[in-house]
Amino acid sequence: VDGGFEVYYQPYLDLQTNAITGCEALVRWRHPQRGMISPAEFIPLAEEMGLIVELGAWAVVEACSQIRAFLRQGLRPPKISVNVSSLQFNAAFTSLVQRTIEEFGIDPCLLELELTEGVLMSNAEASIRSLHDLKKLGVSLSVDDFGTGYSSLSYLSEFPLDELKIDRSFVIAFDNGPRNASLVSAIIAMGKSLNLRLVAEGVDSSAQYRFLHEAGVDVIQGFLFSKPVPADDFAVLLGSNRFAEQIRNLEREAA
Ligand code: C2E
Ligand code: MG
Ligand code: MG
Repeated sequence: VDGGFEVYYQPYLDLQTNAITGCEALVRWRHPQRGMISPAEFIPLAEEMGLIVELGAWAVVEACSQIRAFLRQGLRPPKISVNVSSLQFNAAFTSLVQRTIEEFGIDPCLLELELTEGVLMSNAEASIRSLHDLKKLGVSLSVDDFGTGYSSLSYLSEFPLDELKIDRSFVIAFDNGPRNASLVSAIIAMGKSLNLRLVAEGVDSSAQYRFLHEAGVDVIQGFLFSKPVPADDFAVLLGSNRFAEQIRNLEREAA
């Protein structure tokens, strides 16, 4: 794949350390006439046109290559999370991941894959096997947009998962009242009891931050801290202490 595709990176803030521990790789498409086009527009198209396998493979290679680049710049590389479409999730994908990790010589724990509930619930023997194969490689597995699909809770406990990403709609809904807030707390409690890391996506206000922090979320991603940015800008964020300071201010505001 080329033709104007780029990867942007958005930080994940760990609330234990107030430091960046990871980031999400988000694909962008620079159209010669129309400018930057959102993946919300072109990913469904790529899926329809059968290009998602190639695009998804490219994203994995980009992420691994970026981890190596951060290392070579003397930075402590963050974990990079790559989104995986349900249409590309199969045994061939698993071997691509293995080959790419080996080729770039990176620590597999620095790669995370974000799967949708659809992948898990397809309940094909083959995808369950793929999940276990990936886990054996040492990569992390996350469930993206959690709470919007139809995950069976008993399945959740059987899959080798590391993390749940609470869908942004719940974070937004929290602003609309206590009932939604208790829904978020319930998801967090359930995730914790399954020993999963809880990530909140789409956090863009200090009120949301404070609620999620109180409620026990482990990791926060959102415009409150940073939008997705090109790798060079992300490297600058990695080397700075600005989020720790921002969080101190958020907490001082609250006190
Ligand atoms: P996602 O995986 O749920 O990614 C999170 C989306 O939320 C990103 O949108 C991110 O920019 C946005 N976001 C993060 N924080 C905030 C916030 O505080 N406020 C608001 N309004 N938005 C926030 P983006 O980059 O437009 O990506 C949209 C979706 O496109 C992703 O949703 C993912 O499903 C898909 N996507 C992106 N890259 C890839 C890829 O390489 N492969 C596949 N299969 N899908 C991808
Ligand atoms: Mg994602
Ligand atoms: Mg998401």
